[in-house]
Amino acid sequence: MAANEAAGICMTEAAATDLPPLKVLLCSPRGFCAGVVRAIETVEQALKRFGAPVYVRHEIVHNRYVVESLKQKGAIFVEELSEIPDTDAPVIFSAHGVPKSIPAEAQRRNLFALDATCPLVTKVHREAQIHHKRGRQIVLIGHAGHPEVVGTIGQLPEGTITLVQSVAEAESFVPRDPRNLAYATQTTLSVEDTAEIVAALKARFPDIHGPHKEDICYATTNRQEVVKKVAPMVDAMLVVGSPNSSNTQRLREVAERAGCPHAVLVQRAEEINWAAFESVPVRSLAVTAGASAPEVLVQGIVAALRERYNVTLETITTADEDMFFPLPRPLRADQASDIRNQESSLGSSTARSVA
Ligand code: SF4
Repeated sequence: MAANEAAGICMTEAAATDLPPLKVLLCSPRGFCAGVVRAIETVEQALKRFGAPVYVRHEIVHNRYVVESLKQKGAIFVEELSEIPDTDAPVIFSAHGVPKSIPAEAQRRNLFALDATCPLVTKVHREAQIHHKRGRQIVLIGHAGHPEVVGTIGQLPEGTITLVQSVAEAESFVPRDPRNLAYATQTTLSVEDTAEIVAALKARFPDIHGPHKEDICYATTNRQEVVKKVAPMVDAMLVVGSPNSSNTQRLREVAERAGCPHAVLVQRAEEINWAAFESVPVRSLAVTAGASAPEVLVQGIVAALRERYNVTLETITTADEDMFFPLPRPLRADQASDIRNQESSLGSSTARSVA
């Protein structure tokens, strides 16, 4: 974010041209969060320290541009460890987290594992483990099949965690012991949808234990807040990000719910449907980006808008962010250069290295 954007509604840069006018509101915060920065940096630093290839289990973050860029630098993306040959190259777990069986498998195969799980996802894993130790049945609020949900459920023995995806499921859920329950949530959900599901659970099970602080992360919350503010002010909103990015999809939904009539997810400028712009017609437009979408894609969209419109640009800021997560321990600058050998001799404890 440019320094002059941080002060709230700021600059104007319209030039007198023959192009039709378009007011563009840039949402801030938008784009990369601290967990995504850490995950990408983990791959880049591993490439720098150990050379190509490095293997990455699942998309390191859900963004095609990021994945393609890292592929060009020598990262090989796989979905399962079984696709990786026996190797001493690093194997990196994505920001979404993995079931416990994955680091166990890496250790069994003596792979050099680096864990790029976001520390805020790891926090949810720990909460689930504590509830389990205390004998509580755990309800996880989230979306079936999302890798973060698969990873959280996989922290505990099969059947321990019950997934609840909606208010209807919260209302029909049958616990083993209604007085001994806890809930946790995926980090990238809609704040409002989740509050409704939690309220439905609490109405039925007043003793249910929850997180001390919300599981939905700061980045998800902040990006939804600014979208909520800006949505009623514009004719349309472009949400930059990949369709398989949960927090990005939630931004589009939040925009619609907050009163933006046309909220559209696009991965890059080339995907913009310009004909739809003219048919609406769009005189004011907001642009935001999911937590895994790089700023270069936002700037590409602004450049494409400038080619077709006389753009007046403003930034709307609702929060400043300064969150930072250190890299996994083996990649920190203060570690010895032959860390891979040290970690191997320690039995690959790297598989669970977290900030
Ligand atoms: S969206 Fe939140 S939980 Fe996910 S990587 Fe970013 S900070 Fe971590």
